[in-house]
Amino acid sequence: MQKLGLPCAMEDGKPVWAPHPTDGFQLGTIIDIGADTLTIEPLNQKGKTILAPISQVFPAEDDVNKHVEDNCSLMYLNEATLLNNIRVRYSKDKIYTFVANILVAVNPYFDIPSLYSPDTVKQYQGKSLGTLPPHVYAVADKAYRDMKVLKMSQSIIVSGESGAGKTENTKFVLRYLTTSYGTGQDIEERIVEANPLLEAFGNAKTVRNNNSSRFGKFVEIHFNEKNTVVGGFVSHYLLEKSRICMQSKEERNYHIFYRLCAGASEGIQQKLHLSSPDNFRYLNRGCTQFFANKDREKVIPQNRKSPEHLKLGGLNDPLLDDQGDFNRMCTAMKKIGLDDTEKLNLFQVVAGVLHLGNIDFEDMGSSSGGCTLKNGSGPTLEYCAELLGLEEEDLRVSLTTRVMLTTAGGAKGTVIKVPLKVEQANNARDALAKAIYSRLFDHVVRRVNQCFPFETSSNFIGVLDIAGFEYFEHNSFEQFCINYCNEKLQQFFNERILKEEQELYQKEGLGVNEVHYVDNQDCIDLVEAKLIGILDILDEENRLPQPSDQHFAEAVHSKHRDHFRLIVPRKSKLAVHRNLRDDEGFIIRHFAGAVCYETAQFVEKNNDALHMSLESLVCESRDAFVRQLFENSSNSKDSKQKAGKLSFISVGNKFKTQLNLLLEKLRSTGSSFVRCVKPNLKMVSHQFEGAQILSQLQCSGMVSVLDLMQGGFPSRAPFHELYNMYKQYMPSKLTRLDPRLFCKALFKALGLNENDYKFGLTRVFFRPGKFAEFDQIMKSD
Ligand code: ATP
Ligand code: MG
Repeated sequence: MQKLGLPCAMEDGKPVWAPHPTDGFQLGTIIDIGADTLTIEPLNQKGKTILAPISQVFPAEDDVNKHVEDNCSLMYLNEATLLNNIRVRYSKDKIYTFVANILVAVNPYFDIPSLYSPDTVKQYQGKSLGTLPPHVYAVADKAYRDMKVLKMSQSIIVSGESGAGKTENTKFVLRYLTTSYGTGQDIEERIVEANPLLEAFGNAKTVRNNNSSRFGKFVEIHFNEKNTVVGGFVSHYLLEKSRICMQSKEERNYHIFYRLCAGASEGIQQKLHLSSPDNFRYLNRGCTQFFANKDREKVIPQNRKSPEHLKLGGLNDPLLDDQGDFNRMCTAMKKIGLDDTEKLNLFQVVAGVLHLGNIDFEDMGSSSGGCTLKNGSGPTLEYCAELLGLEEEDLRVSLTTRVMLTTAGGAKGTVIKVPLKVEQANNARDALAKAIYSRLFDHVVRRVNQCFPFETSSNFIGVLDIAGFEYFEHNSFEQFCINYCNEKLQQFFNERILKEEQELYQKEGLGVNEVHYVDNQDCIDLVEAKLIGILDILDEENRLPQPSDQHFAEAVHSKHRDHFRLIVPRKSKLAVHRNLRDDEGFIIRHFAGAVCYETAQFVEKNNDALHMSLESLVCESRDAFVRQLFENSSNSKDSKQKAGKLSFISVGNKFKTQLNLLLEKLRSTGSSFVRCVKPNLKMVSHQFEGAQILSQLQCSGMVSVLDLMQGGFPSRAPFHELYNMYKQYMPSKLTRLDPRLFCKALFKALGLNENDYKFGLTRVFFRPGKFAEFDQIMKSD
């Protein structure tokens, strides 16, 4: 990427952007130029100098307080000017900005008056991109118009880190499309109202977001040949299962658990044997400290500090209104057509999972090494069995023993029961809880899909709301999957942006076809290639009689010893990773940066299968609803034959298949991209943490898009704009020409290098930095 290399930006003391640890960039002037570094005097620290690598210093615009709606109309398009433009706009509550057709959306963390009002919706209907200020409605309307004109389905890909605003923007798009292009029937309302239900079961409070989606989704709105809404369809990806049994500090389980405890009527509470969340193991091990955090105190709404709310116990998060949310969820359920029986079925299983979590085991103290239920687990076992339609005794036996198939003495197929140790029984209990809850979630999505059925559809607009690239202190299988997904989406993004650039060049008659960029196929192959890809290596491990995370890590390293994208932790430049043994992890160089994955639990997390004893237990439940949850289970049919073997259902490869189907779908549609940005970690309004935001722009591939654009003609200006900007410097004879001819004559007169710009039909396209250079010449003459 050509960054500096601009004589006019370097020589005459013009301002440049130099790296800054918290703001991302700071304004300064160049004092000295070294071989690879520049000495810079920061503007607000006269007399002080800093040293910065040349590759991290970028030319600044003349007026750094000016902002533009499309970053491509900046004279210098680079990561620093992009960040600055977003910053200036954010300070004026303009949260949306375009980079060509890509929309950047900063989370304002407060409701901007009338930004999403019905009037605003009306304004954007039928308007071309660029005629009104940047908005997610502009993207939604473009998708609709493209669908109509090109008779082709469309997709809107919304990405960003946790708390960046993906789900909110997705909802704005769905609401915009259903209100603008529906027929006013309840199908549209249902598409919108499905969200509270999905969020109740699939969202949770995390340290990053009080309403964090712990699953990915692709919501399709289907249209008929007249381009009006006929129905919808939701696909979901990778629900975070570990959360069901365990949450990190200050995090919560899925909303539904707390809402049910806080909001259900007394009758239901009694029927489900519910009480305060504090009484359930699956709820009382994460959040305990809401009141200790000063920052949070400030933003707690007054009405939630009431004694009634505090009375509900430490687990009642004052930032969340579980009771109110329960009522809202019930209203939504009603609107989408769930009757009381269906509602109760859902609640019953949720409560069943809670009681299951309270079952405790203790050592039997006998030589058999087995365990038994602590104090018989009191009424817990009874409640759990009752709610899940199981026999108490069957549940007890299934949790404390494992069915094995012996082949001893050649007598094939003798079934024996092996007692489990306390830890194994705990694992069995948690595995059962995770399986039941995730099946319940699958059911909720299936049920939601029945609410907006359609017989025929001509086209759809799909909105993808899926987690962006993740890089935490400890990264596990979940991050591995989500980052693999982001590699695939990044590749698609590059393909599309590249194509759009090329199409624009063609439409404008530029006669250039090539734009160079770095492809990430090698990284995708590293993960998903047959046999040698990490996912297949992991599956192979899972199929071993005694799989181990260490052996898996070693296999990854030995199969990819010299892979450019793979590093052993010991060789990492970062000391933190060097503490990790090579059989404990691997580092992948992703497009957005290197991530160290710790392979502990990869094997376990990659397996979706329940042990047979548990599988047959739930498959034979008295309760038809519970049975139905497990009906389509791929290993339930022949469970008897396979008794004893822990069968294996690969989570990673299921995701790979889903993802490839999704990408196939995306590739068959027209696409738009919304990149959401989280302005600060405190989740408050009007605070712009530059360095954090810059890193998000890098992770979302925005910076590499700039790179990609640098390979072509990133800056562009319509003829009439150039005419207006420069006519004052020209003799009147020239200003009588029409804007296009005016520009042609001007460029010729200045003797500009013809490789540096191209004339399109409506505008001039400049090579990186050349627009500014031209501007400089004009103003200095
Ligand atoms: P996750 O990956 O954790 O699901 P997300 O990107 O989906 O995160 P959201 O849940 O959409 O994030 O947004 C987090 C919170 O930020 C919202 O609950 C809301 O309070 C606020 N927010 C997001 N976008 C907007 C907006 N456009 N206007 C006002 N508030 C917003
Ligand atoms: Mg979300």
